[in-house]
Amino acid sequence: MRILVINCGSSSVKYKLYNFRPFRLLTKGLVERIGEEGSPVKNHYQAIFTVFKRLESLGKKFGEISAIGHRVVHGGEKFKQPVLIDKEVIKEIRKNAELAPLHNPPNLEGILACKKIFPSSKQVAVFDTAFHQTIPQFAYLYALPFDFYKKYKIRRYGFHGTSHQYVAETSSKIMKKSLKKLKLITVHLGNGCSISAIKQGKCIDTSMGFTPLEGLIMGTRSGDIDPAIIFYLARRAGLTLEETEKILNRQSGLLGISGVSNDLRLIKEACKKGNIRARLAIEMFIYRLRKYLGAYILILGGVDAIIFTAGIGENNPDIIKKAVWGLEFLKKKPTVLVIPTDEELMIARLVYNKLKKKRR
Ligand code: ADP
Repeated sequence: MRILVINCGSSSVKYKLYNFRPFRLLTKGLVERIGEEGSPVKNHYQAIFTVFKRLESLGKKFGEISAIGHRVVHGGEKFKQPVLIDKEVIKEIRKNAELAPLHNPPNLEGILACKKIFPSSKQVAVFDTAFHQTIPQFAYLYALPFDFYKKYKIRRYGFHGTSHQYVAETSSKIMKKSLKKLKLITVHLGNGCSISAIKQGKCIDTSMGFTPLEGLIMGTRSGDIDPAIIFYLARRAGLTLEETEKILNRQSGLLGISGVSNDLRLIKEACKKGNIRARLAIEMFIYRLRKYLGAYILILGGVDAIIFTAGIGENNPDIIKKAVWGLEFLKKKPTVLVIPTDEELMIARLVYNKLKKKRR
């Protein structure tokens, strides 16, 4: 069975084609600069058509594509599992664009284009939020008037779900222990950063919330702040809501504190040269991470493994060492693992399992 995974962003499409049983990655690629000035790829339909042409040019050995797995960022409360895409699902993804205005619309463009260009392949949506749908209500609600949850769907959703799920499953294979018997903390540290507490294979809490802005300090996002800062900035500095939103999402985090970059490599270089703010940014990044680690160890009632992944998590043993320092107070010291994430492979596996179940 051939499964194509499509990750459709606002200006690029990433794709990977897999064979299942025996499992093999057959090819992968990227179509960039969608809709940009001077680019030959004017829209998402053309981008997917480019993918189709590239696959076709590889010849017959790539065969028929049975299914296409689409990464969709926001599944709201409705989607707790991957789903076969039909009219209702499309309607719901469109509705959830309200909650993820930058992500769901291009995801949907990709789905609609694939339906036309690959009409005989099954289309499956895999949601970034789905893995976190096991979080209990007392953990996913904010202490706001309850009506806000009912009326506006304001709650913690969490993101990076596919990545947290992938590294959790991989860690159980590495440790040769069933997920059902493990308490795990998974730490995704890329440009966006999030941390999840996973008990018996189920996510019980995660640091990103209603949007990806909450939680850890990230490349350009602030993570947790006192919400009253937003009102104060409006009064004191005359900032509009749009300006503050942009500052919190794009000019804060490692970039905002260091004044150097959002890229940890450059911040580390500056730090070596004695840049005090670069050093402070790294200290703050690690400190926030340790606060969450401490909290999650308590809610899990101990931890068997802490797993680091994504650009920062996979390449910075010095930071990991500082983040997990001092765990001797635990009865059993946890295993610390670094596992490269592979969201596309996780999506392909979920699609394969979904179709297998359907056939039974
Ligand atoms: P994204 O969330 O955009 O997928 P990545 O997972 O690629 O982001 O992570 C980007 C971050 O990882 C950057 O801060 C970058 O500095 C850091 N990073 C990537 N490779 C390395 C490396 N070899 N050494 C140190 N940091 C790295």
